[in-house]
Amino acid sequence: MGFSSNLQGKIAHEALLSRQDAELRLLESMKRCITLKVKSDRDYATALSSVAAQGLKFDRSDELSGSLVGASWRSMMEEMDNTAKLIRQNADSMESKCLDALNSLYTEKRKARKLYQEEHSRILQQFTHLSDEVSRKKSEYQKYLELYKLARYKFEEHYVKSGRGGRKLDEVRDKYQKACRKLHLTHNEYVLLLCEAVEFEKDFRTVLLPGLLEHQQSLQEAFISTWKQLLIEIATNSDLTSEKFREVQRKIENSIESIKPSEEYKDFTEKHKSSPTEPVKFTFDESLVEDSAGKLLPNQLTVDNLTVEWLRTKLTDLETSIKENQEKRTALTTNHEGLANGNSTLNNEINNRLSTTSIDTSRKEVNELKCQERKMLKQTELIKSALNELGCEEAPAACDLSIDNQNFISNASEQGDGSQSTLSKRSMFEAHRLVSMLRKPFRRKSLPSSPVAPPRSRSRKDSSGARSEGADPVSLTTNKSLVDEEWFHGVLPREEVVRLLSNDGDFLVRETTRNDECQTVLSVSWGGHKHFIVQTTAEGHYRFEGPAFPSIRELILYQYNSGLPVTSRSGAILYKPIPRERWELNNDDVVLLDKIGRGNFGDVYRAQLRNSNEIVAVKTCRVTLPEEHKKKFLQEGRILKQYDHPNIVKLIGICVQKQPIMIVMELVPGGSLLTFLRKKSSTLTDGQLMKMCLDTAAGMRYLESKNCIHRDLAARNCLVGYNNVVKISDFGMSREEEEYIVSDGMKQIPIKWTAPEALNFGKYTSLCDVWSYGILCWEIFSRGDTPYTGMSNSRAREKIDGGYRMPAPESTPDEMYRLMLRCWEYKPENRPNFEQIYSVVETLCAAYRVTFC
Ligand code: ADP
Repeated sequence: MGFSSNLQGKIAHEALLSRQDAELRLLESMKRCITLKVKSDRDYATALSSVAAQGLKFDRSDELSGSLVGASWRSMMEEMDNTAKLIRQNADSMESKCLDALNSLYTEKRKARKLYQEEHSRILQQFTHLSDEVSRKKSEYQKYLELYKLARYKFEEHYVKSGRGGRKLDEVRDKYQKACRKLHLTHNEYVLLLCEAVEFEKDFRTVLLPGLLEHQQSLQEAFISTWKQLLIEIATNSDLTSEKFREVQRKIENSIESIKPSEEYKDFTEKHKSSPTEPVKFTFDESLVEDSAGKLLPNQLTVDNLTVEWLRTKLTDLETSIKENQEKRTALTTNHEGLANGNSTLNNEINNRLSTTSIDTSRKEVNELKCQERKMLKQTELIKSALNELGCEEAPAACDLSIDNQNFISNASEQGDGSQSTLSKRSMFEAHRLVSMLRKPFRRKSLPSSPVAPPRSRSRKDSSGARSEGADPVSLTTNKSLVDEEWFHGVLPREEVVRLLSNDGDFLVRETTRNDECQTVLSVSWGGHKHFIVQTTAEGHYRFEGPAFPSIRELILYQYNSGLPVTSRSGAILYKPIPRERWELNNDDVVLLDKIGRGNFGDVYRAQLRNSNEIVAVKTCRVTLPEEHKKKFLQEGRILKQYDHPNIVKLIGICVQKQPIMIVMELVPGGSLLTFLRKKSSTLTDGQLMKMCLDTAAGMRYLESKNCIHRDLAARNCLVGYNNVVKISDFGMSREEEEYIVSDGMKQIPIKWTAPEALNFGKYTSLCDVWSYGILCWEIFSRGDTPYTGMSNSRAREKIDGGYRMPAPESTPDEMYRLMLRCWEYKPENRPNFEQIYSVVETLCAAYRVTFC
């Protein structure tokens, strides 16, 4: 299938030229590609070298000395650098050899194409030329043939006409001869030309064109052979599996092969060999509990009213976690067994290794879970035994004020000279105050209707086992319900209960709400205060540890009459039922008449006491409020019951027998001072206003002397009584302390009435009340205006910190305004106390000749 026999046609000739053009284009493209490949290989080699250099940097420290993995990595990086070198060498060689060869092949091929085209044109031209000559000669031949025919016709015509002579005939004959000659010559030329053409045509077809094509074919094939060599060279220089590269790979593989997990840490272990760590002993630092008066014991959980719920929740959480942990562990163990069994069927080494690792991991996880579980089980045991200890006892109070104060007193008296006393002056004060509280008879108009059952001779035994006389027996009077018993104290707060139970064996019964459930609690003084929750049996009977009874009353009476301990753990025996105090009124003793106000905890009513018909004011606490709020509500009663002063609203009692709990107070008919000032602004004289300032100063002087900080002194919290006497009220925020630091945020703070140190640091003293007193006087003289009118709370605070003080309300006496400014001294120590304030206001009142001063 050679060119010569197959490619003679015109179309084949064109195709051959196109093919050569395409090959030239391919060569050009190859040149471009090889140039790019050389460049990219060089770039890659450079990048690879720098990666290898980076990878070798790990080797700078000697922490990895002796590491087989390290050595293998080093070798891998070195071989990576060698790979880079090889790639660079190949690129150089490709550039120098292949690119040059490609260039010359391109030139040669171009030249060959050109020559072929020229030669082909030349022989084709010869043939065309000859063909043209033949045509031309043939035309010439035809022309001379016509001329000859004409000349012969003329000669024959003359010859016939003139006979055989004459000049004209000669001329005609001559022309005839010339035409004949021309025709014959042309004929011969034509014959010769045709002979040449025939020969040439034969040569063109059989010799010249095939020869040219044959030559071209051999040239092309020679080019292809060079081309092939070139491609071989390119392939060789691009071969990453060549021996040189394989050598690199072998070295890497050998270095990896030399890694032996068991030997990896041999040198390291040798170098850092040390003895096993000493076990760390975690011990309870006993000095931590030295000051806890035995409430906190080393290594023992403290179960009290503040922690019991937390402990129960913690126990539930722990038990849930233990269960989850066990489930996880079972799942892991099953999985682990599955992996171990599947091992034998796995041939692939990697898979084997992976499953071994998985088994190790799951084994490790199982161990960790076991450790966690052990920890949790230990904690569970600890909590359970602490809670079991408690039994049916209500958790003891964490802070039992009455005990603390009794301790204070006995400690203080034991200290004798006082010089070695560790008690602060304040604690001593507190102790005395509490003692007087315990002793002081409480103001009450009506006495309890049903006294405690008659005394029965039974000796009192203290918690140490010694007996003492004086126990009151209780008889089981029929038809009496628990609430009728004088020793039933309703929902009296626990803090009050512990204050009432002072001797071992003293007891009372009360109610409490826990998790929305009402529980009846027997509170007993027995080496501290114990609170036993009455347990309900499946039959609906009541019991502690002993027999069950159909009613709580019977249970308590049994406990009292039998002289048996309530629980064996506590050993607590009931000796003396403690009746309700005078101020513990029955809810039914109070008849609510009409609503006269609305407080934070509930509505305020005008009411009547059933026994004395006295008209009183009653603050109620909404039944739906949480227990904490109810305690806060009663706080006012707790504080007020100790005070007796004409300018302090008086407490008559509290009703805690059932819900709603109530505080019964003297009715102050004029209502709140703020409303009063606003209503009567036009009629109030400066003298009356001065008198109001004096009343409040007197009340505050009294509170200051009692170490009571009111914390919310303002016109809205004062009441106006007969003859416009002002009484300080609303002790909801009050604290009986010299200094009170707020730690539970500053919610609902009356910003515009509160001193800067209380706002900024939560630090309250009576001198904070002095600041508020200044504002109260401003309210009085402005006849009920809002302080810092038009300013927001934060703006007022900012301004005060910047030194701003309110101007005096119109018609304020100068001395009074000077007093206000002294009350608003930024530093509390620069403010007057209420003793001083009272004497200033008293003098001013006298100067105003106010008759009632
Ligand atoms: P709370 O302390 O719950 O905010 P307040 O002491 O402010 O309740 O009482 C609300 C309103 O009830 C007062 O503004 C006042 O009008 C009225 N009030 C409270 N106590 C008495 C009282 N002893 N005599 C007459 N009215 C009273």
